[in-house]
Amino acid sequence: MLGEVWWRRNQRSSGVFEDSKRSHDAGEAWRGDDPGQVAVEEQSLELQSCATKLWTIKEVLVRRHMKVAFFGRTSNGKSTVINAMLRDRVLPSGIGHTTNCFLRVEGTDADEAYLTTEASSDRRSVTTVNQLAHALHMVPTLDSGSLVKVMWPKSRCALLRDDLVLMDSPGTDVTLELDTWIDKFCLDADVFVLVGNAESTLMNTEKLFFHKVSERISKPNIFILHNRWDASVSEPEYIEEVRKQHLDRGVRFLAEELKVVSLDEAPGRIFFVSAKEVLSSRMQRAQGMPETGETGGALAEGFHERLREFQMFERTFEEFISQSAVKTKFEQHTVRARQITEAIKAVMDAINIASADRKICCLEEREDQKDRLDFVRGQINRLTVSVKERIKTLTDDVSAKVATALTDQIRSLPVLVEEFRADFNPTQEALELYKTKLLQHVEDRLVGCLSHRCSAGVLRDMAETQRHMTDSVQPLLSPSVHDRLSAPSASFDLTYDLGLVALCTDFRENIEFQFSLGWTALVARFIGASNAKRALGAAADVRPQETSTFKDDMAVSIATGLSCVSSRASMAGMVVGGVVWRSVGWRLLALSLSLYGLLYLYEKLTWTDGSRERALKQQFVEHAARRLRAAVPAAGSACSQQVHKELASTFGRLAQRVDLSEAELEGNIRQLSFRIQRLENLQRRSKAFRNRATELETQLEAFSVQYLQEV
Ligand code: GDP
Repeated sequence: MLGEVWWRRNQRSSGVFEDSKRSHDAGEAWRGDDPGQVAVEEQSLELQSCATKLWTIKEVLVRRHMKVAFFGRTSNGKSTVINAMLRDRVLPSGIGHTTNCFLRVEGTDADEAYLTTEASSDRRSVTTVNQLAHALHMVPTLDSGSLVKVMWPKSRCALLRDDLVLMDSPGTDVTLELDTWIDKFCLDADVFVLVGNAESTLMNTEKLFFHKVSERISKPNIFILHNRWDASVSEPEYIEEVRKQHLDRGVRFLAEELKVVSLDEAPGRIFFVSAKEVLSSRMQRAQGMPETGETGGALAEGFHERLREFQMFERTFEEFISQSAVKTKFEQHTVRARQITEAIKAVMDAINIASADRKICCLEEREDQKDRLDFVRGQINRLTVSVKERIKTLTDDVSAKVATALTDQIRSLPVLVEEFRADFNPTQEALELYKTKLLQHVEDRLVGCLSHRCSAGVLRDMAETQRHMTDSVQPLLSPSVHDRLSAPSASFDLTYDLGLVALCTDFRENIEFQFSLGWTALVARFIGASNAKRALGAAADVRPQETSTFKDDMAVSIATGLSCVSSRASMAGMVVGGVVWRSVGWRLLALSLSLYGLLYLYEKLTWTDGSRERALKQQFVEHAARRLRAAVPAAGSACSQQVHKELASTFGRLAQRVDLSEAELEGNIRQLSFRIQRLENLQRRSKAFRNRATELETQLEAFSVQYLQEV
């Protein structure tokens, strides 16, 4: 039957819409992946609105029944029209809607009529209209606009067997909540019947309601019933004129204001009826009684005409339900589905293009970042080599500078020592103190002179090198790292640790009196001053291995000296000596001895503390100079090491910054790759959705060719 025809179509078409719904859901999911990045707000809203539309279509399509909604002011006879159509007093009439609820009449296979409410699914049994009216009043929690389902046995009403659902509304004049009503009960209605009152024209509230309906549902199917037409019998002379007026207004309303039908079609949607008469006549017939007027008397004038018109309405209505409504319903939704697929295609195209544009930007940016990374890596490698060379040159230079300066200072050591002034006392403790102070003085002066000669130049060179490093590194740094670039530490100063105290720990002065013609002096004359000193003065301090070499040296020296004497004196000397001895004799010997004695006495007397201090200083100069000369290379390299350490640490810090910049670049590249991948995914998916939408379009086309054009 009727239900089956559209149910079959329903299955086909709902499959199509299911697909498009799925695509849309996927679209939503996709949007969630990348919120607000590629898709703009408008596109997201567009897809959301598609989803809502799709949902409504789906709701309508999955429903098996056809739904007819009756609207109009209270007491226009909506309930009576429904009852007349159902050929029974199913709904209470004449009492007005004391509740603001919607009554939905649908068939049940049960034998008993019952009602359920939204609030509770409890079945309230009703057998008669009075009971129903009573039951409605007894339902405690019927809020304004709530729904009461009246389940009427299909066995008692033929119309309900075709899964038709009739919806009676409380009356467009009783509430201002039109929007809520429409959303709640009308969006899925297939046909709307506006029940008007033949005694008055369409009211603005009724018109407003249908304006709102047609805003939400494109081209709703609307019938206008001018009810209570029997009342016009009282003024038969105006009847045609009144009818024409109502008809014209109705046509204008449907065709021009709502634009739901053409001007030609509009009159076919407007009927002048008397539901009350139709109902009573049908009930009388059902009970096998003859048709009479309302009060049991003669039939009212024009009754048959009005009955025919009501029957015409019913025929048109049924035809509409079975054919046009089905067609319109699916046609409408097919058109709508096309619009949705178009919208989705447009959005997907826009997203695809936007993703492609962004991908290109990201690819270019990634290339830039890669180039920069390669550049930074190459540069830092080259810079490392050149900086190493520069540091090496500088440190060698420092080493040489310090060594030269120290060597020069060693030469002026006698002057430095001579400058030293302190109390001199030959006692052991006083001597120790004197030597400590002397060492300190010499060290201070040496360090001072070295610092004066070298530090400024070295520090200048270092600053220059550090500036060169910073200047070379700066262009390699990313802006964020660049800001954090700290200036090289200014606290660095070159220190000269000569370790003179340690060098001179073995210094032993010899300030004992020594006669210049004494044994020591004579030995010194023969074997050299240094050996004599070691032999006679410092023999005790000499280490064992040194002693043996020294003894050998001395033996060799004495032997050489003696051989020298023997060679020089020779035989001639001995002859001369014998002659002299014989002529001068004892006098000369005595004179010599007394001169020797006098000389000794003189030297002994002039051997004062001053002489001792001079001797000590001289010995110290010799000792310190010897030790310092040996320590020159070490002092130079100590300074160069300091310089090396400082410069290396500066470059290390800078290299660390470059590492950070490199890491940042690598991070950027990774991020860009990730974004590119996501954009590629987006492109792929938007393309897939677009293809799916095209596919659906083809299916919709096939559907409309197969089902809609033949109806
Ligand atoms: P509703 O509030 O729109 O559902 O209107 P009802 O169906 O309850 O009817 C209101 C009143 O109008 C009742 O007393 C009905 O008997 C009466 N009525 C309904 N249809 C007609 C009709 O065609 N002619 C006349 N004269 N009265 C009618």
